[in-house]
Parts: sequence; C-alpha cells; structure tokens
Amino acid sequence: LNPSLLSVEQALAQLLRNVEPVSIEVVPLSKALKRVLAQDIHAPMDLPPFSNSAMDGFAIRAADVADASDGNPVQLSVVGDVSAGEGDVKSIHADQAMRIMTGAVIPAGADAVVPVESTDNPQALSEMSLPEFVVIRKEVMPGDFIRVAGQDVREGNKILSCGHRLRPQDIGMLATLGISTPSVYRKPQIALISTGDELVDLAQELRPGTIRDSNRYALAAAIESSGAVPVAIGIVPDDPKQLEKCLDYCVELEVDLIVSSAGVSMGAFDFVRNVVESKGHLEFWRVNIRPGKPFLKGSYKGIPVIGLPGNPVSALVTFEIFVKPFLYHLSGVKTTKRFILMAMLKHPIETDGRESYLRAKLTQGIEGYEVGLVGSQDSGVLSSLIEANAIIRIPAGMESLAKGAHVEVLALHNERFL
Ligand code: AMP
Ligand code: MG
Repeated sequence: LNPSLLSVEQALAQLLRNVEPVSIEVVPLSKALKRVLAQDIHAPMDLPPFSNSAMDGFAIRAADVADASDGNPVQLSVVGDVSAGEGDVKSIHADQAMRIMTGAVIPAGADAVVPVESTDNPQALSEMSLPEFVVIRKEVMPGDFIRVAGQDVREGNKILSCGHRLRPQDIGMLATLGISTPSVYRKPQIALISTGDELVDLAQELRPGTIRDSNRYALAAAIESSGAVPVAIGIVPDDPKQLEKCLDYCVELEVDLIVSSAGVSMGAFDFVRNVVESKGHLEFWRVNIRPGKPFLKGSYKGIPVIGLPGNPVSALVTFEIFVKPFLYHLSGVKTTKRFILMAMLKHPIETDGRESYLRAKLTQGIEGYEVGLVGSQDSGVLSSLIEANAIIRIPAGMESLAKGAHVEVLALHNERFL
C-alpha cells in the first residue's frame, strides 16, 4: 500500500470534517419534499385532536354489554347518528347506542365502539334511516375501536429533528399538525466544471479526436438527485490560466462547492492539482480507491473544491462515495451513513488491492441476495454502469474473493431491482 494514499475512510473523514450547512429558508409544505429540515418539529397539538371512532359501527357503553353472548343478546336503543366532521355531538346514557362513522367524535358517555359487522344487522350503516335498536352478542372492552385523543402524538412531543430529509409521511405529519411553512436548508449551489482539450458540448460538432462532455450532464444529474443545484460552468481547456479564471468566476457566483472533472491524474496536461495547490489550498490528492484514485480535495478563495477523475465511471463512482455525503452535510443532513446489504458472490472476483467499487447486478436468490459483476470494470466503460444496479465494495488489501463469499453491496436504486 502506497503510504501517501489516503484510505477511503480517511478521505471521507477529512472531507466531512467542518462542513458547515448552508443557510436556511422557508418553503411552502407543497414544495418541501426531499428538503432537509432546519428546525426541530414539536407537535403544537395532540393527535388525534379528539377521541374518535376507528370503525363504522355503534358507540356504546361497554358496561351495558358486559354479559352479552349468543345466549344473552343485548339490545340497545339507537338514539342518534354521528358522522365524521360533526362537532356538536349528543351524549348517550345507559342501554343506549349511537350510530357512528369512522373518524367521528365519540359521544360523551360512550367508551367503546362496536363495528357494524359485529352486530346483528351488518347493513345498519348502509341504510339511510336510523335503526331503532342494535343487538350485540359479544362482550366489548372499554376503549375498543376508539382512537383516543393524543394516542398518536402528544402536544409538545418532538416529532422530527433538524437535519432530517422530508419524506411523504413526514409531509403528511407536518400537514396534520398545521405546519405549512417549515424551515429547511436551502439547496446547495454546486459549480460544475469540465476540463479537457478534447471536450465539446452537445451542441457542437464532434470533430476527430474530440468527445462529448458527458460528465457535465451525468454529474449535474447526480447533483440534482442529491438534492443540490448544479450550476453548469462549462468546459475549460487544459490551461491553468483559464482554469484560474473559471474558478474566480465560481467565487463570484458564491457557489457552495466547486466540482471539476478530469485533469487530476499524472498526465502532462493534468494541471488541476497545480492550480489548486498554487492558487488555493490543496487538502489531499489521491485515495486508495478503484476506480477514482486521483480524487482531489482542496479549496479556492474559501470555497471547497473537489476534483473528480475524468473517466465517466470514476467520476460517478467517486461522486457516489465522496461527493454525495459532502452534499448531504452541506444540505444540513446529520447522518450520511449509507445503507449496505450483504449478498452472495455468484463467481470469483479479482481486484488490485485498492478498496474497490465494482459495477454489479444484485438479484434476489432463493436464499437471499446474490450479486455478480457486469461487463468490464475498466473505468472508461460506461455501459457496464448502465447495466449495473449495485456496486460491490471490496475492502482494501483483498485481492481475490471466492464464489459464494459474502460481500458488501451498495444498491444504486433503493426502491427496486432494475
Ligand atoms: P483525464 O483525467 O483528464 O486524463 O481524463 C480521463 C479520461 O476521461 C479521458 O479519456 C478523458 O477524455 C475522459 N474525460 C475527461 N473529461 C470528460 C468529460 N467531461 N466527459 C467525458 N469524458 C471525459
Ligand atoms: Mg484530461
């Protein structure tokens, strides 16, 4: 192991040290999905706010039917109707019942609900007219089918924490609590620079020797799907002066992070490191990772700079491993530990001793998850990343793994197998 190379863990720790989250803004709840809360949420009220029925049925007094059985059916007189949304509800007394709908206020005096299907007349609710009485043949416990006020959430309880990324269920909770304009961190602005004399933009003609600047689009998409805003700066040729000018422009834009791709290897024209080192501050360069060894971190006039390798796969894999957690921290997310699962290798694997992130396909086998490599692991081959739905992680120092070994897998799509 080259002692000058940082391990992935060291690089990540150094990268995430002292990252300050961006400033805060207020958004309407309808725009808050996937945004990161910048405030703790304490419930301003009980949920449910009033005790209500969990079923369509009859609100009763449990004591009235304590002895009910098939041999001793109990008949209660139905004294009224209470539907969801009604606020002014009458009370019931001994041997009385009230027809009640799901979500309706429990009448005073009642302490249980009997679902309509547990009565002698399961049709009693579909009929418009109120039945005169209801017959019950089973004992009922106090509290049955009642959602008690505050059973879900108690006023004052902490419901969500600052740093939490809002999911649909969180949005629902905020809505039901009446929190219509939560404070969230604003989306970090990420300047994106592609370096290389060989690059042309999509609108330009592809002359011999040139390739399209695909990293700009792929990385912009990766930034966007991480909850940040890509600010595409464009292509900078392999010229230190022009890169410096471009970095100054990013400083003017007051972005939160500058991400460049390519120009960080050992090539004669790989000048990104020199510019960061001489005009800014270089924190580290090169990590013991495959692919993506030339990864660079530094800053320029106070703005953090990340230099990604140029190969499209290296750029995307190092984005996944390093940039995403960095963006999460910028976005105010507190924990960025990744969801990792274990899967059984379908064939032997050889690698070069670096901590390796290999393109793979994860499938559901009979005895659990199975995983195998897809296509070429060459860092210039993007098609195998297209085929992949997961990345196998092999620890540093491990050069071969046998078929049947259990390996760590990072799913690339959390929701389903593609
Ligand atoms: P470099 O790190 O500059 O040596 O680039 C490594 C490889 O990535 C070279 O084959 C480059 O042509 C390729 N490459 C660099 N930048 C991009 C880009 N923006 N889009 C696609 N390929 C790129
Ligand atoms: Mg280059």
